[in-house]
Formats: sequence, structure tokens, C-alpha cells
Amino acid sequence: MVSLHGGHSGQFCAHAGPWHAAEVLKPPPRAAGYHTYGVTEHAPRSEARFLYPEELELGWTTKTLADNFHAYAREAAALAQEFADRLTILCGFEIEVVPAREYAKLMSSLRHMYHFQYMVGSVHYVDEILIDGALSEFNRAVTHCGGVEPLAVRYYDAVAAMIEEMRPEVVAHFDLIRKNAPDEASVDSAKIRAAAERALAAVAAHGAILELNTAGYRKGLGRPYLAPWMLDRAREMNLPVCFGDDSHGPSDVGAGMNQARQYLLDHGIREITYLARERGKLVKRKAPL
Ligand SMILES: [Zn+2]
Ligand SMILES: [Zn+2]
Repeated sequence: MVSLHGGHSGQFCAHAGPWHAAEVLKPPPRAAGYHTYGVTEHAPRSEARFLYPEELELGWTTKTLADNFHAYAREAAALAQEFADRLTILCGFEIEVVPAREYAKLMSSLRHMYHFQYMVGSVHYVDEILIDGALSEFNRAVTHCGGVEPLAVRYYDAVAAMIEEMRPEVVAHFDLIRKNAPDEASVDSAKIRAAAERALAAVAAHGAILELNTAGYRKGLGRPYLAPWMLDRAREMNLPVCFGDDSHGPSDVGAGMNQARQYLLDHGIREITYLARERGKLVKRKAPL
């Protein structure tokens, strides 16, 4: 069992609940049967206009986020060492695509500054409007783009652009636009599929691993992220797929993994591709399901 995205903790991220990183990581990944567990805290947002309501309520500033992230990088590396004989912990981070004009530079400098082993590429914003948080913000994005369909197209265009720009090792929750959409059908049309296909082509071109993200079960979507048709395309295009539990607390660790494994098997995917550390370098490895 492998997860390449998760381990978010309240110690560093306000929307993850009261958990200390060691509580999220200590017995749970092992107890859940994990062999490799990637911890990927959110990159700090650099401008105050991107702070979340719960962060403002706590009196957090962009400096708090930067300080937390700094502490995260140290703690993740220390935990990886502490658990080295029991569990492979990979240290990475989950990127943000804001501010649009300079996110790429910011994310690259974080990666190098903290020597992260890998990057999880995520698009939580369309034109700097959060599509992953409150419904009011999502609706603002809908109005901004002129409807749900054009928003979804713009979202997948942003995913493709992010992959081209950042070349992340893992592409997270590929169809996150589904989360706040009125229903599945509203984000599934010929135009939207064409845009998603372009993003999948970018995944292929840069050799990224597509994340099968089990948070979709917890968010009441009835399925993980990667809609069935995307999984079929991933299989046809021979794109590597790996699990991510996107945990934001101990009870999320390993949640939905059995269902997700079955979901992959049901769509003809019989192996996952994960990341392993070999002689100090990160390499891709395959494992049968
Ligand atoms: Zn989060
Ligand atoms: Zn995310």
C-alpha cells in the first residue's frame, strides 16, 4: 500500500483539524498497512488575499503560513528518519497556482530551498479564485467564467498549464472541479472532455503519475477523484496511476484504500506506479494491485 499525497496536519495547516504531524503519521500509516507514505503539506500562500477564512479567524498571516511550512519541512525530514526502519516516508509538498504571475518561481524556490524529494501538482484556483473551498467562492468562479462548463474547461486548461510549467512528479485530484459542481453531468461534456484530454496529454508528455485520490469518498462524491472515463483513458494511454489518501487527520490515513483498489481493478488497471528512494535518488517503481 502506497500513498503519495497526504499527511496534512493541523500543526501546519488550519483546515486539517487539531492534529500534530506525528499523530497523523505515528502509528496510522503502518497500522493501515502502508509500505510507502508521502507527506505533502500545502505550500504557503504568499499574499494575504489568498488566506482562508479559518486562517483569518486564527489571526494567521502569510508569515504564519511561511513559518509553518518551514517547521513542516524540518519535522517531515525528522519523522522520515525516525520511522526509516518501519515505513518509507517521502517528503514532498503540494503546490498552489497562486499568485498566477509568479507561482512557478515561488514553488520552484520552495522545492530547492527545502530539498523536497517531489512535488504534488494541484490546481485549487481558477484565475486566482478558489474552486476547492466555500461554495460562494466556487460560484464566483462560475460567474467569472460565464458558466459551469466554461469554468471546467478553464480548470483543465489550468491543470495542463501547471503540468507544463512545473513538471510535478504527481498530479493530484485531476477532476477536483467535480467537488463543488452541482452534479457529475455539469462537468462532463464534449468540450470539457476535450480540455481534460489535453491535460492528460500533458501528464503523458511529462511522465507524471496520476493520483487516484480517495478523498472523493469522504467528500460524498461516491467515487474517488479520477472519474471512470478518465481512468479508462489513463489505461488506454498507459499513464501511471498511484493512490493518495489526501489525509488531513489520523482517521483519513488509509481510508477508502480497499474500495479504491477495487475501483482500479474494475477499470482494468492492475498495477500502480509509486516513488521509491534509491541511493539518495527518487525513482519510479511499479507494484501489482
Ligand atoms: Zn488541505
Ligand atoms: Zn489538494
